[in-house]
Amino acid sequence: MHNLTINGERLWRTITQTAAFGAGPDGGIRRLTLSPEDKKVRDWLREQCEAIGCSLKVDTVGNMFATRPGTREHALPIAMGSHLDTQPTGGKFDGILGVLAGLEVLRTLHDAGYETEHPVMLINWTNEEGARFAPAMLGSGAHAGVFDQAFVDSRLDTDGVSFAEAIEKIGYRGETPLGETSLAAMFELHIEQGPILEREDIEIGVVTGVQAMRWYDLVITGQEAHAGSTPMDMRCDALADAAAIVLGAQDIARKLGGMATTGQLSITSPSRNVIPGKLSMSLDLRHVTDGGLDSLEIEVTDLIRKQCGNRAHLQAVWISPAVHFDVDCIETVRRAAERLGTSRRDIVSGAGHDSVHVSRIAPTTMIFIPCKDGLSHNPAESARKEHCVLGAQVLLESIILHQSFAGN
Ligand SMILES: [Zn+2]
Repeated sequence: MHNLTINGERLWRTITQTAAFGAGPDGGIRRLTLSPEDKKVRDWLREQCEAIGCSLKVDTVGNMFATRPGTREHALPIAMGSHLDTQPTGGKFDGILGVLAGLEVLRTLHDAGYETEHPVMLINWTNEEGARFAPAMLGSGAHAGVFDQAFVDSRLDTDGVSFAEAIEKIGYRGETPLGETSLAAMFELHIEQGPILEREDIEIGVVTGVQAMRWYDLVITGQEAHAGSTPMDMRCDALADAAAIVLGAQDIARKLGGMATTGQLSITSPSRNVIPGKLSMSLDLRHVTDGGLDSLEIEVTDLIRKQCGNRAHLQAVWISPAVHFDVDCIETVRRAAERLGTSRRDIVSGAGHDSVHVSRIAPTTMIFIPCKDGLSHNPAESARKEHCVLGAQVLLESIILHQSFAGN
């Protein structure tokens, strides 16, 4: 038993103060990865970690690893963390909370002189957002062996600046080889980025995994014809087909407990008085299980065939299977929340996170807290102070509890 309590005022102060690195006029943050603002917050984090006796390593894609030593020789670190980069119109909490709460855990352990068996590590992953360099979750993916160094270095931003140039420019190309840092476990605290916890008035989400996602491009060919002289029953209108597919896919998703979204649609040669003859559109399908997503895909494909016959061409462009987080890590978070007497529920993440990649190489899970109106990637993104503080306390509790769970 311990009676460690994180300093909520100090945590809130760091959230408020570090928001100055890339502060926007609307209360949000614009801190694109490897930008001058990103360098400032990284330098600040390095200073804070070193001030409490942690050693800092940086790998060759700029991932930062701060370690507080443990007492047991050769024990692998139990890690916390997330990302400090933001979207161009980002908020103060997405990713940032996970890193700053981790720092608060390290400070609390330091202040109390508390000794852990395993080292405790804080990680700041590079380029989680993918807003400057695609794809998202690049740093954690490189650490997990999903992307190699050459691929990461070759990514270009919209100004044609490569990842390699950008990282050299801010001086964050470290020497630690990719993937060298092994972990006993990883816990990522994050805002939910959805409305479920807030709607149900629940303080802590015990994240069991991340839902499966598939992206498709759909091209529909109809026939261009005059809007005034072509009778309604003699048209082959590609946009009318698309409308039926968008709504039909939503009905199927509702029935199967999944999600279907079309966020992009463009008519090839749009004209006010021409029946649309060709268009391309995106389709994003999600489900908490791979099997559920298979069923969703089969029914939506069937709908497209019935609607368009061979006038439609559907192509999968990205597939991300369902992620199931580590059962022991999940149990640790459950017990931590239980010990603190907070309201909690199991939840599946609707968004991708660094933990998706990390879970390939280390036992991993996440802790969610509610955020206002489920909003993120928006300057209005907001989380309540008491929820941030509670999330950090659950994180601390999990790190301590997991000491006895983790083997090496
Ligand atoms: Zn995030």
